[in-house]
Amino acid sequence: MDKTGADDTRWMRRAIELARHGEAGAGTNPIGCVLVHDGVVLAEACNEVDLRHDPTAHAEIVAIRRGGERLRDSELRGVVLYTTLQPCGMCTMASIWAKIGRIVYGAGRDDVHSMYFEDRHLDTLDFIRDAFRDDLALEGGVLAAECAALYVPPKAHVPRSEQFNR
Ligand SMILES: [Zn+2]
Repeated sequence: MDKTGADDTRWMRRAIELARHGEAGAGTNPIGCVLVHDGVVLAEACNEVDLRHDPTAHAEIVAIRRGGERLRDSELRGVVLYTTLQPCGMCTMASIWAKIGRIVYGAGRDDVHSMYFEDRHLDTLDFIRDAFRDDLALEGGVLAAECAALYVPPKAHVPRSEQFNR
């Protein structure tokens, strides 16, 4: 494995730890996010939606806010965002506005139940393909099986009333 791949695996493992920690602490969806800048951690977060009563407190948003405060800059150019699950439309767009340099996710949308996503058919990763940014790289499937194991599987029966996106 090349150096980049080894680093991706290492940071994704940390994101998985954060996801598990968040689930145990706040009882929210287990999403973990790590921002890495020049090879060191800039910010870490888990999903804090229930903790903060804030529907925008997805792990990626919380991490981007922390990263900006730490750098004292609203632009996180060159920063790599690691997240255990393919980012939603909100977090994808926030990453574009934050000038994140690279997004690396674990489980993809098809690896988990559809209730984790807000849109029926749109692929919000197309926001990246369609953005004016030519310097935003995207990579999915890093430790995909381990990440997917954090979530309800695609075919599982979940009562409609328990589906997050209803
Ligand atoms: Zn999100």
